[in-house]
Amino acid sequence: MSKILNAYASIAGEDVINYMVQLSKPLAGKKVVHVNSTREGGGVAEILHKLVPLMTALGLDVTWEVISGREDFYKCTKGFHNALQGHRVSIGSALIEIYEDTNRENAERLRQLLADADFVFVHDPQPAALIRHISKRKGKWIWRCHIDCSRPHRPVWKYLRQYCSMYDASVFSLPDFAQKLPHPQYIIAPSIDPLSEKNIELPVEEVRAVTDGFGLDPELPLLVQVSRFDRFKDPLGVIEAFRQVRRHVPCQLVLAGGGASDDPEGEAVLEEVLMAASGEDDIHVLVLPPDSHRKINALQRAADIVIQKSTKEGFGLTVCEAMWKGKPVVGGDTGGIRIQVIDHYTGFKVRTPEGAALRIRYLLHHREKRIDMGKRAKRMVRENFLLTRHLREYLALMLSLMNGSGDRIDISSS
Ligand code: UDP
Repeated sequence: MSKILNAYASIAGEDVINYMVQLSKPLAGKKVVHVNSTREGGGVAEILHKLVPLMTALGLDVTWEVISGREDFYKCTKGFHNALQGHRVSIGSALIEIYEDTNRENAERLRQLLADADFVFVHDPQPAALIRHISKRKGKWIWRCHIDCSRPHRPVWKYLRQYCSMYDASVFSLPDFAQKLPHPQYIIAPSIDPLSEKNIELPVEEVRAVTDGFGLDPELPLLVQVSRFDRFKDPLGVIEAFRQVRRHVPCQLVLAGGGASDDPEGEAVLEEVLMAASGEDDIHVLVLPPDSHRKINALQRAADIVIQKSTKEGFGLTVCEAMWKGKPVVGGDTGGIRIQVIDHYTGFKVRTPEGAALRIRYLLHHREKRIDMGKRAKRMVRENFLLTRHLREYLALMLSLMNGSGDRIDISSS
């Protein structure tokens, strides 16, 4: 077994790895291409950075391509994102034209690779239209949607659906997100990588050095939310909840975030957050470069409670990351947070700043509860949300697509 597989075996268990190795045998040497729209920032890039090397270690021939476009392309695709998550966004024909042109240009650049691949995973709406321009496709194409599209704004979904329908399969993170499409749909929850810089154990001295470096008070309880500056993450709601908590319990709040190159709204939201936090010594708004994984790890470890008060959330890797570090999470009662945060068990689901404040105060007053919830949270991630489970499900999906209409897949003889 390779070094990387051994390392995962030590955390997930040898059986889990052996099972993956078995599943991957019929897929050895198969060409797999992942396509998304940013190499840094946001959950999709976070996952691909870890999934691609592990797939490679299992013998598949994997590449990860990033499409690129100009400013208006990202303006358009951010509009898609907001619309799929339920906002009534109207996207003008000029932006749509830029979306289509950008996909055509990227398809030209990637034509050979995409046409020859055995499996192409296209992540989210940004590159969804690539498929239209690759008419001679050798392999199976899978549209992987990471967004909470349980209640999409219909006109935008109707437009995107023409492309999504061309795929051989689609993958959603939760059953609630699945849409009417003319092909098989798979439900696969995302995951975290326990061996990444974001999630490995850190020495206490390093955690302390990071919190000191950000000027945090070691004596004050610490609340942390890590997120892109995005309205769906509700940073203003977090500040409001924090203010309500602090009327009763002294504490401090970190809102740590950075941008993603495919998210043009980040700066405006950051401005709003800085305004809302101005004059407050106990609110620390940290704008971090994209490679700050150990620092984020340290902040999550230093936290007494982790918050993810999203109003819409495809999954919320930050929730998993916190749970893996044994933290209770106060999370928005929405999308993927619902399958991670179990009320009174791994944290609390909330809808309003008032609700969040109430649960945070409860947790700050009950240290034993925080510890118990944190232990259960970690166990839940180990059992459900590690990269190894995620990859196993992708392997099974590829096998089932490869198998076509056959009703048996033999993984024993390869
Ligand atoms: N993240 C980061 N730096 C930041 C903000 C977020 O590294 O400044 C990471 C975070 O730790 C998580 C991912 O980006 O791994 C965000 O994924 P999530 O599913 O929570 O949200 P998304 O941004 O995809 O909506």
